[in-house]
Amino acid sequence: MLPYPFPGPFDYRVPAGMDPQPGDVVLVPLNRREEVGVVWDASADEGVPDRKLKPLAGLIDTPPMRSELRRFVDWVAAYTLAPPGEVMAMALRVVAHGVAAPTMGWRRADPGPAARLTEARRRVLDALASQEPRATGELARIAGVGAGVVRGMADSGLLVPAVLTAVAPFAAPNPEHPGEALSSDQTAAAAVLRQAVAARVFSVTLLDGVTGSGKTEVYLEAVAECLRQGRQALVLLPEIALSSQWLERFERRFAVAPAVWHSDLPSRVRRVTWAAVAEGAASVVVGARSALFLPFPDLGLVVVDEEHETAFKQEEGVVYHARDMAVVRARICSAAAVLVSATPSLETLANVEVGRYARLTLPTRHGGAALPSVAAIDMRATGPERGQFLAPPLIEAVRATLARGEQSMLFLNRRGYAPLTLCRHCGHRMQCPNCTAWLVEHRVRRALQCHHCGHSVPIPDECPACGAANSLVPVGPGVERITEEATAAFPDARRLVMASDTMTGPHAAADAARAIEARAVDLIIGTQIVAKGWHFPHLTLVGVVDADLGLAGGDLRAAERTVQLLHQVAGRAGRAEAPGRVLLQTFSPEHPVMQALVEGDLAAFMAREAAQRRPGHWPPYGRLAALIVSADSATVADALARDLGRAAPRGDGMEVLGPAPAPLSILRGRHRRRLLLKTRRDVAVQPILRAWLGKVTTTRGARVEVDVDPLSFL
Ligand SMILES: [Zn+2]
Ligand SMILES: [Zn+2]
Repeated sequence: MLPYPFPGPFDYRVPAGMDPQPGDVVLVPLNRREEVGVVWDASADEGVPDRKLKPLAGLIDTPPMRSELRRFVDWVAAYTLAPPGEVMAMALRVVAHGVAAPTMGWRRADPGPAARLTEARRRVLDALASQEPRATGELARIAGVGAGVVRGMADSGLLVPAVLTAVAPFAAPNPEHPGEALSSDQTAAAAVLRQAVAARVFSVTLLDGVTGSGKTEVYLEAVAECLRQGRQALVLLPEIALSSQWLERFERRFAVAPAVWHSDLPSRVRRVTWAAVAEGAASVVVGARSALFLPFPDLGLVVVDEEHETAFKQEEGVVYHARDMAVVRARICSAAAVLVSATPSLETLANVEVGRYARLTLPTRHGGAALPSVAAIDMRATGPERGQFLAPPLIEAVRATLARGEQSMLFLNRRGYAPLTLCRHCGHRMQCPNCTAWLVEHRVRRALQCHHCGHSVPIPDECPACGAANSLVPVGPGVERITEEATAAFPDARRLVMASDTMTGPHAAADAARAIEARAVDLIIGTQIVAKGWHFPHLTLVGVVDADLGLAGGDLRAAERTVQLLHQVAGRAGRAEAPGRVLLQTFSPEHPVMQALVEGDLAAFMAREAAQRRPGHWPPYGRLAALIVSADSATVADALARDLGRAAPRGDGMEVLGPAPAPLSILRGRHRRRLLLKTRRDVAVQPILRAWLGKVTTTRGARVEVDVDPLSFL
């Protein structure tokens, strides 16, 4: 099996004296090069004459890919319809051969650049945001620039040489190290999870507990049991860059840090970590979804924290959902899987309902803290002044909180200053030339940027359509605009903005968390990254600037996701002694989503969601698979989409919706059309999709991507 999108493995001749076994990593000739591949389990094609077979070029001295991992690769490929070689590449990516690893690299010079940078140079600095030094080649690859750009930056003093981080050996976490005292609810839940791990058989448990109930401490006891069993544990987090507080908790429990795995690791750290996992020296890994493809020899536990998070879905390349594949990996390894959330997805709740997953509940907050009280601010009745976005009751509440010396948070899930810029003279809207999307104003950077393709232009002084001067005006708020308004309203408050484009890298997020814990901040203004599991004991007020935001668009899961996100944001308030309060600014306080949040009755809301989806066989009570057609031209995209529409499968319990232009009908210059296959739950979609795709010929420049169980419909 070669790490490329071929439909299956290739046959090679085994030279005399070589005895490769399934899983061995080998060098093989391919065209005029040598490539790394893995001996796969498939039987050889006897129809290929011996003279056509090329010989294996050699064995690579690296741990073989174990049969569990090969089966997992095959399973993911079959489920997602991705070419198996492309899936295998995710498990093989770090096996390097030949080249000696460099020892010197670069870090950012301090202070940063005085002048404005070229786009290429800015990308290089972004690639160094995490403070980890990187080698020239790696840096150039991540930033997508030539090595000359890196050297030029070093010559002009923007980069300084740095010794590449040596990787410390992985210390063994100590399961007997005394952890924090658990409540009786936590103790009971931990005992059940310990049993599941000790049973050494496959099981799935939902650990469902209110925000602040101490779920992490409970599943760390399952990790401890896994260590006692001599097996390895994997914890998946949705955003590993925001995990500083999680890592501190882990260290408090086990006295050492776990091995960390994500795509942003320097390549030598990746290589050492990969080898340590393969040898069993790294016994606990915390990672992003790609950690599922690490070569664990004996995986005994897989935890998926914040299992409802859409960040677990990989939308490019191999399109897979890490939560669902984590369950598959656990089954193949006879491991326990634990899915953790305060707001479980309807998919997981449906699996609990039919008895496929067990469920543990933590109904109260840890240490006797009360859940925050939630109230809606009706923007129709008590809305803000014209041109403002914070309503008087919210401003009053922030003032009162500041006066008590407690912390407040304003949440708006939108980066930048304004989502739309238009000309008040001619009505022209600033749109991305490559995408069906408005350009978002980033006032700090004085730029208009597309959030889909990254296209960025300076804010023009004149309207590009009518030429009127100073006629462009921002419409609607982003988090930068809310910061501006908050600065005027609360001039003495010490503010901190938390957005993914202002906090680059794990260090920035960790510094922010420490500043908040140390009460060096009074007012936090942030996008969705503030919703991520943080524990800020002095935060007592959360204001949601636009609670209706996620409901627009009419996505199947819009309501479910809005409830989950806002409940998570709300859950940051009042986690210690002082009670928390949450205010939702909304134009429809009567909406079931707002009602569920105000009443705190998520179970009733989810039951209502289930009742709405069940009759129409919408997920999780039916299956969906999307085909996304894309091409350089609209004509080619339309023709291919029409062909797929004509060849659409028909039958009992299935239905094809579309073709229709995708909501993002142009993305990065490609024209996009969508078709959606909807089936009953008892119908397997993969054979239908394979037969369907087999009936259609794809022309040059056109592509069909398959998304089984789609979460995004853009
Ligand atoms: Zn104009
Ligand atoms: Zn764009």
